[in-house]
Amino acid sequence: MLERWRERDVFHESIRRREGAPPFVFYEGPPTANGRPGSHHVLSRVFKDVFPRYKTMQGHFVPRKAGWDCHGLPVELEVEKELGFTNKHDIEQFGIAEFNARCRESVLRYIDEWNELTERIGFWIDTNDAYFTLDPNYVESVWWSLKQVWEKGLLVEGNRVVPYCTRCGTALSSHELALGYKDAVDPSVFVRFPLVDDPDVSLLAWTTMPWTLVPHAAVAVDPDVDYVRARLGDPRSPASAGQGAGDRLILAEALVERVLGEDPEIEERMPGSALLGLRYEPPFPYITDYGERGHTVLAGDFVSIEDGTGVVHTGAAFGEDDFRLATENGLTIHNPVRPDGTFDERTGPFAGMHVREADAHIVEALRDSGRLFRAGEYEHSYPHCWRCDTPLIYYAKKNWYVRTTAVKDELLAANETIKWYPEHIKHGRFGNWLENNVDWALSRERYWGTPLPVWRCEQGHDVCVGSLAELSERGGEQPEDVHRPFIDEVVLSCEQCGGEMRRVPDLIDVWWDSGCMPFAQWHAPFENENLARERFPADYICEALDQTRGWFYSLLAISVMLFGEASYRTCLCLGLILDPDGQKMSKSKGNVVVPWDVLNAHGADAMRWYYFTSKQPWDGYRFSLETVGESVRQFLKPLWNTYAFYVLYANVNEPSGSAEETELDRWIRSRLAATTERVIERMEDYDTTFAGRAIAEFVDDLSNWYVRLSRRRFWDGDPAAFDTLRDCLLGASKLLAPLTPFVTDEIYDNLDGAEPSIHLCYFPEAGGRDEGLEWNMQVVRDAVELGRAARAHAKLKVRQPLREAVVVAADRERGAIERLEELLKEELNVRSVRYVSEADELGRFELKPNYRALGPRFGKQMPQVAAAISALDPAKLRAGRRVGVNVNGQDHEIGPEDVTMVLQPLEGYQVERSGTHAVALNLEIDDELRREGLAREVVHAVQSARKNAGLDVEDRISLTLAGDEELLAAAREHQDYVAGETLATSLEFDGAQGDERAEIEGRALLISVRLASA
Ligand SMILES: [Zn+2]
Ligand SMILES: [Zn+2]
Repeated sequence: MLERWRERDVFHESIRRREGAPPFVFYEGPPTANGRPGSHHVLSRVFKDVFPRYKTMQGHFVPRKAGWDCHGLPVELEVEKELGFTNKHDIEQFGIAEFNARCRESVLRYIDEWNELTERIGFWIDTNDAYFTLDPNYVESVWWSLKQVWEKGLLVEGNRVVPYCTRCGTALSSHELALGYKDAVDPSVFVRFPLVDDPDVSLLAWTTMPWTLVPHAAVAVDPDVDYVRARLGDPRSPASAGQGAGDRLILAEALVERVLGEDPEIEERMPGSALLGLRYEPPFPYITDYGERGHTVLAGDFVSIEDGTGVVHTGAAFGEDDFRLATENGLTIHNPVRPDGTFDERTGPFAGMHVREADAHIVEALRDSGRLFRAGEYEHSYPHCWRCDTPLIYYAKKNWYVRTTAVKDELLAANETIKWYPEHIKHGRFGNWLENNVDWALSRERYWGTPLPVWRCEQGHDVCVGSLAELSERGGEQPEDVHRPFIDEVVLSCEQCGGEMRRVPDLIDVWWDSGCMPFAQWHAPFENENLARERFPADYICEALDQTRGWFYSLLAISVMLFGEASYRTCLCLGLILDPDGQKMSKSKGNVVVPWDVLNAHGADAMRWYYFTSKQPWDGYRFSLETVGESVRQFLKPLWNTYAFYVLYANVNEPSGSAEETELDRWIRSRLAATTERVIERMEDYDTTFAGRAIAEFVDDLSNWYVRLSRRRFWDGDPAAFDTLRDCLLGASKLLAPLTPFVTDEIYDNLDGAEPSIHLCYFPEAGGRDEGLEWNMQVVRDAVELGRAARAHAKLKVRQPLREAVVVAADRERGAIERLEELLKEELNVRSVRYVSEADELGRFELKPNYRALGPRFGKQMPQVAAAISALDPAKLRAGRRVGVNVNGQDHEIGPEDVTMVLQPLEGYQVERSGTHAVALNLEIDDELRREGLAREVVHAVQSARKNAGLDVEDRISLTLAGDEELLAAAREHQDYVAGETLATSLEFDGAQGDERAEIEGRALLISVRLASA
């Protein structure tokens, strides 16, 4: 099929044919091709495929440009790993030019595998015309965007606390931060800070990051909270383990019991405001000059009494609240942590240690100096670097920011214009994210990425460059490459002071790159400006749920700042792919399902069908090779078998005779129309789940009802049956084409083939419906269902004919069944159908006490109550009334909830009931019925003999039977029937060689089947 699509150039043809039609714009969120594609990539890629296919069939022009994300830390990390580097120093020594050359090479390492997989899963996207974020044209468009933001005063440099990865040596933006929360176990350390004026009394503070105690600046309390001075009593108390008796500690009253246990004696209560200004001894003597208010008690508005002690230790540079507190109180800010996460020379014995390694040494030092009150462990969710998994630290440093907070209202307004799937994302996950917007930390001190186009002279004049041409205009030379280190060599001259301007060495956040794709993919506005405008905004984008803080955000933020509106109208979010036990897939657990294994075992349609219909796509999947196999078994196989049935019979039987449509034909056509209506309605709502399920129900109706009940007509070459089945197969295939593009094109090509591919056809329009007939058929099918269940309970094979079925049906339902009574008779294999209007006529209702309801009420009197109930008139309780009973001289009321109603069928009948519907079968089998049943068994045995002899369905045979007399007598009596069903041109009853021996109810049947001479 792939070859046929390539040969016939179906994908491009499907776009060409719609040129000039109303466009439907799709944006490809660019993946990174430096790793192999996984099952979750297949998920997003098939969802990116299905709606563009659908819209194309609906008559839209749907160009699809592929894209690749090429920059950023993930790429650098991969290369570092290969080269065995552990930090930035290694990269600088190796040389940035050479390092970036390796990144460039690495980033497209698996692009062939990606492209191959893309084709294999039937994701139609133009990989030959892809955009690459490393392309100089792309970078230039990104620069243009930054210059726009710069000119609006939204791109600024600031000293702020940022989440920082010491391994990668760079700050992370808040959306990157949100990607990496993980459970972690950190130290939990309680520390004493003795008061300068009263060294017997200590403030008790708590931290989970002991390393921040080395650059300790101050403590904060909540002035409005009550604090106490507590004296610890019994030294053996667990809470004061390791403490001498008499320890006197200041902490929040609300936390005394949790921290100190129940023992302490409260010496004094005071408001937090009474503590302000107190001086105390810092835990370490290495850095001391924090200014006037250093190492004093300050008022903080962030002090929590949820955990800790209500006395918050602060290292001014290491936290947003800390930094703000320090700035407000005029503290000197020291940051003795180097960019690689090690302490610098100001920190005594800890100098040179990584802060996280230093934790344990710091706790020991506190223990030695007597400052440690207690040390333990603390489990919490803590942010890690989303790429390298290192726990982040918070850290005050200079960074470039985009002031997204200045456009928060516009972001929220733009979000209102987006349709989200699932809907709750809009005001939930995404809306909250926007509500809590913080400025975008844009700069990265790294090597492989889009360079921040800001140049600065020695006087501190800055300029943001918006194009390559502007470099020349400002006196710079065109660089050999827009990346580092080449761009770093471009020197501009300052307009203000005439001095030399050099580039600020930072790169920008890679998420900014991908957020620029609406225009940068076209190199707009330098080229294709109109095209970019025409294809803005996207009608549809689709990615994994976690992109609410990634691409969904960067796309929105950039388009709102640049164009004042959202860059997408509809956004479909996809859930996680878990293993069958609900565990995340990971290499270390060995539960990763490789997409190629699934594709090779079950094919692309099966994988697509599974993703489209097994769940709502945002609910997440429990994925395995077997679950995909189920979709083959439950849907694709029945579909294929129905198609194969058609082909088989169409090939052997020239349709002939009258072409009059039957009720069944009209019914299945009406069902097709109903399904088409439903599928269009669902697909317009971006819902493959229920669109697919509607088609599956139709295919089930087609194969398990229409075809099964029409077999005889196909046999006889009834042209109406062939036409109907063909139309239904083609109709269903067109509805299915966007979901399972391979099998449907195969069916189309063979049954129709007017176009080079089904994917060049228009989506079907719903034809006329006969809802009355659909309803009638449903009533009959329900009755058949009950009748079959009755047979199963009576352990009677369907092949055994029965005298009579009794159906409870009145009015409209009775009319429906009467109209289609032949179907019912045939399906239940009964001679006649009788109608009654009440289930009572099928038997007698009996009342049984509901012990669970009555037991607690009556206890030991239950036997008498049970007897009284069985004497009641069931009809009264059936009407929902309450009746009185007298037990041991006492009156009680019994309601419908106190009893269960059991229908005892009439003698000789089997009844099956569901709600008000019921069907009873007369089980009496006389000799005549029995012989007919046996004749059917004989036919069944001969059919399998035919199959075993390798005969084709249309082959005529000469048939010889021998064996048990009763079987032969039955076959003789129904000789025409047996011969007709088995295509026997002659039927004899002796001399069978017994090529095939069958057993029917313990009786032997010898069967000889010979190909009849023509
Ligand atoms: Zn990292
Ligand atoms: Zn200057």
